Amino acid sequence: MSASPALPLPAVAARRLSGWLTHLGVSRDAFDDTVGLLSPLLRVHSLQARLVERRVETPSATSLYLQTGSAFPALRPGQYVIIGVTIRGVRHRRAYSPRAVPGKPGHIAITVQRQPGGLVSQHLNEHAQVGDVFDIETPAGDFVLPSPLPAELLLIAGGSGITPGMAMLRHLHETAPQTRVTLIYFARSERDRIFADKLNDLAKRWSLLRYVPLDSSAHTPSGHEPGRDAAKASARVLDTALLDEVAPGWSQRPTWCCGPAPLMDAARQLWQDAGASDRLRLEAFAPPQASGDPNARHAVALRRDRQTASFEAAGNLTLLAAGEQAGLQIKHGCRQGICHECTCRLHRGSVQDLSTGQRIDGEGQPIRLCVSAALSDVDLESLN
Ligand SMILES: Cc1cc2nc3c(=O)[nH]c(=O)nc-3n(C[C@H](O)[C@H](O)[C@H](O)COP(=O)(O)OP(=O)(O)OC[C@H]3O[C@@H](n4cnc5c(N)ncnc54)[C@H](O)[C@@H]3O)c2cc1C
Repeated sequence: MSASPALPLPAVAARRLSGWLTHLGVSRDAFDDTVGLLSPLLRVHSLQARLVERRVETPSATSLYLQTGSAFPALRPGQYVIIGVTIRGVRHRRAYSPRAVPGKPGHIAITVQRQPGGLVSQHLNEHAQVGDVFDIETPAGDFVLPSPLPAELLLIAGGSGITPGMAMLRHLHETAPQTRVTLIYFARSERDRIFADKLNDLAKRWSLLRYVPLDSSAHTPSGHEPGRDAAKASARVLDTALLDEVAPGWSQRPTWCCGPAPLMDAARQLWQDAGASDRLRLEAFAPPQASGDPNARHAVALRRDRQTASFEAAGNLTLLAAGEQAGLQIKHGCRQGICHECTCRLHRGSVQDLSTGQRIDGEGQPIRLCVSAALSDVDLESLN
């Protein structure tokens, strides 16, 4: 990932001022808290953003338009931001894939798909109000377009996995419309397809975009007739027949795929069989599921601040979920393996890192409790 773009002058000036004040004993938090009294968008270390508009995209997805402060760096399309949301007094952090808002510098939009039983996604869909202020972290992630851009590329999305793809498409259309792009987008139905109208419109205006909306369920053909270059929506699965039909030479094209686990598993296998795994980039939104023995009971000792908590972990639970089931309050953030708040040192025993599939044997390595499942009894020490 390249270095963050330069900050605008007001943010640089504010950071300098904060730096000088640090020498006088004013901490970064105190600086942010003080300027934050004037406006939360003036903060320069722990950033915040204000919700300025909501737009319903589908029955289960809402776009939130956020005004960021000048210290918020420019986005690279495809990156994620972590948003901190306080619900009933508890702060929760989740990642969302933002896009720039055309003609509105200092604004970004995120689109949040409501997940069944999902705490933050339900809250943002149902209760977030214009004027609400959220914590926001600087953009991160390497699910981004390369520089220089390839002449031709393939995007595959499923459900809310369209959000990083949409950020990339907008960017490509604005800055490199000579790029030949194929977008294959699976959704349960046309009604559930986020950005359906915007994508149809973009496909009409951009002759080098081939937009292929497909229904992911074989039983729910949408019957919708999309834009000029779009294939008729129909129930299909990602396989070589589909790829050969809509993206001939697909294994030679750089490809970005984001969506539910079955779609990404299919893509992983197809590209592997084609000997082209290095041309496929994947981004998972949902945390990986542990698939170990549900009847196994591994003894876990978790040391923090000279105190040790003990609990048992089944093989089909993450260490974080197992600790929580045992009634412990374990420090954590995103629950997705990206914020590292739950990082511990593994001193003894073995775990599986669910994000990579790798086994880690205890020799003091850092592991993330939210994406690790025990393979044996383990001794852990919290690093946060
Ligand atoms: C890099 C990255 C970018 C992301 N970008 C977006 C985005 O642009 N838009 C968006 O809507 N979401 C996005 N997500 C997912 C988002 O961070 C949250 O996971 C999601 O909103 C659910 O949070 P929750 O608090 O509602 O669910 P939780 O209360 O954390 O979980 C409730 C249940 O839902 C399951 N679950 C959580 N997330 C998903 C999911 N995505 N699909 C299926 N099941 C899930 C959990 O396993 C759990 O069983 C992104 C995630 C990552 C890692």
